[in-house]
Formats: sequence, structure tokens, C-alpha cells
Amino acid sequence: MSDIRYNCPKCGGAMVKGYAADKAEHYFMKLAWVDGEPKQASLLGIKGHNIDVSGEQRRELRGLRCEKCGFLELYAI
Ligand SMILES: [Zn+2]
Repeated sequence: MSDIRYNCPKCGGAMVKGYAADKAEHYFMKLAWVDGEPKQASLLGIKGHNIDVSGEQRRELRGLRCEKCGFLELYAI
């Protein structure tokens, strides 16, 4: 594990590494970044809350969070 310390560009506080996660039904999943505007998915012509990311490049999100002010610095890798 790296001992590099990151400081917040907004307030100078200590920043910690992390990633974005969201709850889906009964488990948690990592969030991904997709370039562009979201495309709504449809099943048999019915549109729900799902989005269609087929054919899109999904990038893992990693980032830093300031423990003092909450500022986030995200990277899509
Ligand atoms: Zn800060």
C-alpha cells in the first residue's frame, strides 16, 4: 500500500482513496462511468428506469474524498 498523502485542493484537508458503489436489489455494485448522455432501455417497447449501456465503454471510477470538507476528485480509468 502506498504511503503517498493527498491533500484537498479546496481546503488542504487529508484525502482518502475510495470508489463509488450503489445498492442494487440485495447487493452492492461498483459504479462505472460512461461517456455521453444516458440512453433509456426498453423491453418489448416498455421503458422503465433502466439505461442501456450495451456497446458503450464503461470505465471504473476511483477517487479521493476529503475527510474535512467532503470534496470528491474522481478518475474514470
Ligand atoms: Zn477539503
